[in-house]
Amino acid sequence: MTEPLPWHRNQWMQLQRSRQQNRLPHALLLAGAAGLGKSRFARSLAQSILCEQPGEQGEACGKCRQCLLLQAENHPDLRVVTPAEDSHVIRIDAIRELASGNTLSVGDGGFRIFIIEPAHAMGQGAANALLKTLEEPIPGTLMLLVTSAPDRLPVTIRSRCQLLRFSPPDRQTGLAWLQQSGLSATEAGEALELAAGAPLRALELATGGALEPYRLLREGLQSLLLGQDTAVSLAEAWLKEKELDSLLLFLSSEIMDVIRGKRHQEGKKAVSPLQSLHEWVDLKELYRLLDRLTDTRRAGSNNLNAQLALESILLQWSHITRG
Ligand SMILES: [Zn+2]
Repeated sequence: MTEPLPWHRNQWMQLQRSRQQNRLPHALLLAGAAGLGKSRFARSLAQSILCEQPGEQGEACGKCRQCLLLQAENHPDLRVVTPAEDSHVIRIDAIRELASGNTLSVGDGGFRIFIIEPAHAMGQGAANALLKTLEEPIPGTLMLLVTSAPDRLPVTIRSRCQLLRFSPPDRQTGLAWLQQSGLSATEAGEALELAAGAPLRALELATGGALEPYRLLREGLQSLLLGQDTAVSLAEAWLKEKELDSLLLFLSSEIMDVIRGKRHQEGKKAVSPLQSLHEWVDLKELYRLLDRLTDTRRAGSNNLNAQLALESILLQWSHITRG
């Protein structure tokens, strides 16, 4: 069965309490950045509700008839609605079918559960059809809307769902989970940074080979700092590998890290010049560079000579960091 993740504990317990008091809402909006495990949470919750003998914390037993059906992904009371294979849109038919109430037979548990993901992929028609269902809920039905972009859902839908918000776990929790999932401590740290603290996204990046290019970017910055490379040749080498925008995004996140003194706060001694930068670099200058990065990104690569733009930003970085 799908275990609830360690950083979902509060949301999990909150819903288990509602369930014990027979006060589960008709619709939940699971909102938060991608890679936090919202989809997994929706599945754990569905399993927990459909299981005949959930454990003390409400977790599905994995052995009963309902759990076996769930494991075979063949449970008649659980339906996952996703975009049609040939598009990115959840079609109106899929929602209408669900709204008709005929799709699923109510099983022994007396609950029917729909997971709609990503909910913001519903077109206007689908959203209107869903709204009808939300306005007149079918008893014993639970809608789980999963989205990383709740703002893209109509207010009318949002206001009829109970909001369940997901945020990144604290760093230690994220690191521990990634290491349990098979990453080394170094990989876990790099991946978590790259994924802005979202552990599932971090794992995906690490196992998808995304860490190596990131390491190369870091090494490039370091050699610039040590005077072993020039802004001109570094910009040229980077642009062979990546688009200007993703390079600017990488630089912004590096600068933010320095500003926050983040790498240093981990209780470790700085092991590279990049890590000790925040001790002596002029923060005002860094903020200025950050503004410039934002402006450049806004201008878009169409209007710029990418090589020149990157060169001049790297030059400024080099100037600031080398004092
Ligand atoms: Zn069970």
